[in-house]
Amino acid sequence: MMKHFFIKLLVFVLFSQFIFSCDSAGPSLVSNEAELEKAIADAKPGSVITLANGVWKDIEIEFIGEGKKDSLITLTAEEAGKVFIEGQSNLSLSGNYLTVSGLVFRNGYSPTSAVISFRTSEDQLANHSRVTNCVIDNFSNPERFESDIWVTMYGKNNTFDHNSLTGKRNLGVTMAVMLNTEESRENNHLIEYNYFGPRQNLAANGGETLRIGTSHYSLTDSKTMVRNNYFDRCDGEHEIISNKSGRNVFQNNVFDQCRGTLTMRHGQHTLVENNYFLGKGKPNTGGIRVINEYQTVVNNYMSGLTGYRFRGALVIMNGVPNSPINRYNQVVDSKVEGNIIIDCDHVQFCAGSDAERSAVPIGTTFSRNLFLSKTNPNPFTVYDDISGITFSQNLINREAIPPQEKGFELVDYQVHENDNGLEVPAKELLDKIGFSDLKLPVEKSETGAEYYTQDFKEPTFRTGKKIHVAPGVNTILNALEESESGDILVLGGAAEYLLTKNVPIHHLVTILSEASDKPTILSEKNSFFSIENEGGLELVNVILDGSKSPDMAGNSIVSTSKYSMNRNYKLFVRNCEIKNLDVNHTFDFLKIYPATMADTILIENSNFHHVTGSVISMAQELEDLGMYNVEHVIITGSTFEQVEGAAVNIYRGGNDESTFGPIVSVTKSTFTDVGKGSRNKTKASLKFHGVQDLTISDSQWQESAPLTLHLTNGEPVTNINNITLTNSGDVVSNSLAFSKNNVKIISQ
Ligand code: CA
Repeated sequence: MMKHFFIKLLVFVLFSQFIFSCDSAGPSLVSNEAELEKAIADAKPGSVITLANGVWKDIEIEFIGEGKKDSLITLTAEEAGKVFIEGQSNLSLSGNYLTVSGLVFRNGYSPTSAVISFRTSEDQLANHSRVTNCVIDNFSNPERFESDIWVTMYGKNNTFDHNSLTGKRNLGVTMAVMLNTEESRENNHLIEYNYFGPRQNLAANGGETLRIGTSHYSLTDSKTMVRNNYFDRCDGEHEIISNKSGRNVFQNNVFDQCRGTLTMRHGQHTLVENNYFLGKGKPNTGGIRVINEYQTVVNNYMSGLTGYRFRGALVIMNGVPNSPINRYNQVVDSKVEGNIIIDCDHVQFCAGSDAERSAVPIGTTFSRNLFLSKTNPNPFTVYDDISGITFSQNLINREAIPPQEKGFELVDYQVHENDNGLEVPAKELLDKIGFSDLKLPVEKSETGAEYYTQDFKEPTFRTGKKIHVAPGVNTILNALEESESGDILVLGGAAEYLLTKNVPIHHLVTILSEASDKPTILSEKNSFFSIENEGGLELVNVILDGSKSPDMAGNSIVSTSKYSMNRNYKLFVRNCEIKNLDVNHTFDFLKIYPATMADTILIENSNFHHVTGSVISMAQELEDLGMYNVEHVIITGSTFEQVEGAAVNIYRGGNDESTFGPIVSVTKSTFTDVGKGSRNKTKASLKFHGVQDLTISDSQWQESAPLTLHLTNGEPVTNINNITLTNSGDVVSNSLAFSKNNVKIISQ
């Protein structure tokens, strides 16, 4: 009887294997959408669906299948890295035991709100599935403020590993773990060995690189493991990672020159262990921000971090008593132990303390942390009562003042640089805090899709060739059309260059003269140059003369694109003269449109006179959502004379605290008869609303409208030094929370 059974079983097994091998036999190479759909529909456990090399344009792949634990269904590339998904495309998957690998998303964007989604509909989720060795490179919606998320993980037990996600430019988190239904909670997802490449400053909330959960579901556990990932210049906003759910682990990740912090925004029982934060002195680089209950921060390494306030190297926040779910829970019963903080500028306790955030940390231990700093010997700021934090066995270099005496031992600053460029404290100090193995937990080259570049350089001016441009009509335009990014158009001296057409700028270009007599550029169009997406302009040693501009209101010398720009741009003006912007009213030097963002506007040693509009008016995001139009404005050594509008008007509205800028400095400049035109709605010579970091120094005003400040939330840093206002009123401000030294007010 048993023998008979075994024979039957054997026949069954052989037969199933035969069926199975028939089903999955042969390479199912597919070359078009119909073949792909059929292959997916026909797939059985063990099937391998192979996309032919080449470009797949405008394709929304729904990969639905039921694999088995030992017999996956695979969707892959004929050759990894040679299958390009372009245009209006995306990929969604649902079912069990699926694997996707080798695909590159580029030259397009998703028509939906995700590029890769671990679900195909609200209730069809992927489980036990994996996406590996894939790339999403600048697959960004051209509408800057159209939101999407590149990777959304739903379901349970999924893995996202060895992928490269780089260059996201539009609004929305780069990658998110979703907990919106029961089927996606306690998910045990694994996110490892990914390369999160550079993400530019979004200048708005919603530029996080990784978010796990949302405030709404933050009291549930996610149990997601994030380990051995490399975050390279992830600068979208001040949260690199926003943890918003329970029991997640962040282990062995490297944060290389990222502006922002790993933030425990919501959720409890988070473990943050052995992560390396390397600031390398770059502005606004941060470390770890602790909020909520039962958090553990152990054996992390931070060096060269410069960030202030919420993006400090190590920040323990105040909470809101009985906090609403979307605000700030008190730090309770948490542990910060055995971390190394070297040459970091800011460590903050009770950060965010205000009338609302009044619940100080309690039941929390802070021990065996090692602080050594030469860049800022006193990195500590204590904003509120720290008696609920127990400090013990922390080490700090002698020059520093500890936040309190108890629990800090003074030691010598003993640091050397090792072969990998890490700053390493003396062994005896490491032994004292129990930090055994100081080395990068993962190398960049071990992360990301193996075939894909990690060499992403920010383009800069004057890296290309020189093109000599003869005087005449549209010669600049003709030269520009031949140029490439970084090229330099060299103009002659004392000659005229007339533009009779619009000059769109699509890459970085420098227009300069090396002659002692500056050449003059004129235009018959309402704007000389328009900086389009990917464009950037540097003007050096030239005269820009508005006298041939059309007799109509609203001209400009430089404008942005009229359409959304998802790429931040730069405008540099050095040693130039800008004159006769007065053929009609409201002639601006720079005219910008909404949904555009300048990384830097620099005006150096330049003279502006006879302007009926403003020189720089960057006030196009008026919804008060915390968005703005420029990160850095630097004005130095320049004069402004007979400017009817505000010379500079910068606006950043709203209460959002996720961004860094605008950051403005005005030095060594003079303002004469500026801001007094009847059309100047700001009634100011310079108007700064919501600027986060403002320096004004060594400058003079004569017969001008006042210098007007509107300080908003976020502890803006404002310093005004050595200025003289003659017949120009006083500094006008809504708040006195700024530093003012040697400000002379003269009335004649
Ligand atoms: Ca955020």
